[in-house]
Amino acid sequence: MPEQKPDYYDLLGVDRDADDAAIKKAFRRKARELHPDVNPDDAEAESRFKLVAEAYEVLSNRQTRQMYDRHGHAGLGGQAHTDFSDFGSFQDLFDAFFGGNMFGGGRQSGPRRPAQGQDMAVEATITFAESAAGLEHEVEYDAIDACETCGGSGAAEGATLERCVTCGGQGQVHQVTQSALGQFRRTSICPACSGRGEIPSETCDDCNGAGRVRGHRRFSVNIPAGIASGQQIRVAGRGHAGEPGARPGDLYVAVNVEQDDRFRRDGLDVISSVSIPVTDAMVGTTVTVPTVTGEEALEIRPGTQFGDQYVIRGKGFPALQGRARGDQRVLVEVQIPKVASPEAREAVERLADTLDDRAYRHDTGFFDRLKHAFR
Ligand SMILES: [Zn+2]
Ligand SMILES: [Zn+2]
Repeated sequence: MPEQKPDYYDLLGVDRDADDAAIKKAFRRKARELHPDVNPDDAEAESRFKLVAEAYEVLSNRQTRQMYDRHGHAGLGGQAHTDFSDFGSFQDLFDAFFGGNMFGGGRQSGPRRPAQGQDMAVEATITFAESAAGLEHEVEYDAIDACETCGGSGAAEGATLERCVTCGGQGQVHQVTQSALGQFRRTSICPACSGRGEIPSETCDDCNGAGRVRGHRRFSVNIPAGIASGQQIRVAGRGHAGEPGARPGDLYVAVNVEQDDRFRRDGLDVISSVSIPVTDAMVGTTVTVPTVTGEEALEIRPGTQFGDQYVIRGKGFPALQGRARGDQRVLVEVQIPKVASPEAREAVERLADTLDDRAYRHDTGFFDRLKHAFR
């Protein structure tokens, strides 16, 4: 069943005989509650605002209000269904109604404040070992810089700043749109002066008056030991330049750690494996295993089983915060050699006869030995 659209008078919270002034006042009060500054990214506030705006559109116009009073929603037919999606964001929608001047007057009147530079992101691909040890990683990217010649003002040397004629120094222009249900006033940034309200008498040659130029950056970023793939590092002030007087954006370095087929990461631990012949597993041996800081000798005890785990303390990742440090866990795989020649077969059978501990049995520790490999 389609949802019944709420009554327009109820939406605004006014009586059916409310006059124009009361309707306007009620709308302003409701709209203030639902203001995007108060409800950032709140979809429910947005849809409520749209309904309230629709009610106001209908009730603030004599003709449509009459139709609504006589026939309800049905009386308006398709007419009242203003397509608000036209307005883009909630803020745009709001500005369409109020021209930005409703809330205390000062919010958008006069030249706007210089805009902060935009943030930007670059990717840094590093090796597994580098993610464990940390490194200075060079990043290189294009970004907007303030023009050095004019200090970002866009004015040529000796030029004076003059009031922008397009906006009269206000930094913003108003556009009135006529719709079936009344007028919308839309406010936008003055295209002539980019909202500054002033235009230099002569523009800087190096930036053509923009105050900003395309720049190229190259510098080293400290990537701390223990960083994991998908984490990012914020470098304050290394994003795009802001407008004169405003701070630049930040740079985000998104770290991508390459796979290393010798290692896996599990929290702060490094997991690796070593494969030894069954005879070495029986009598023990010393093997060389790779760690994130180089090779290390590892003693394999006699009687080592498939799936046994050896721990090399402190060879894992350091925590980004605090002093914790992980270990390297080495899982043992046991090779069963192929027995091809009759001589080898004979030797193995002889060996089998001499073993002290030979039986078929239920191995209760098997899953426990393997479980760390599967978590
Ligand atoms: Zn310049
Ligand atoms: Zn202007």
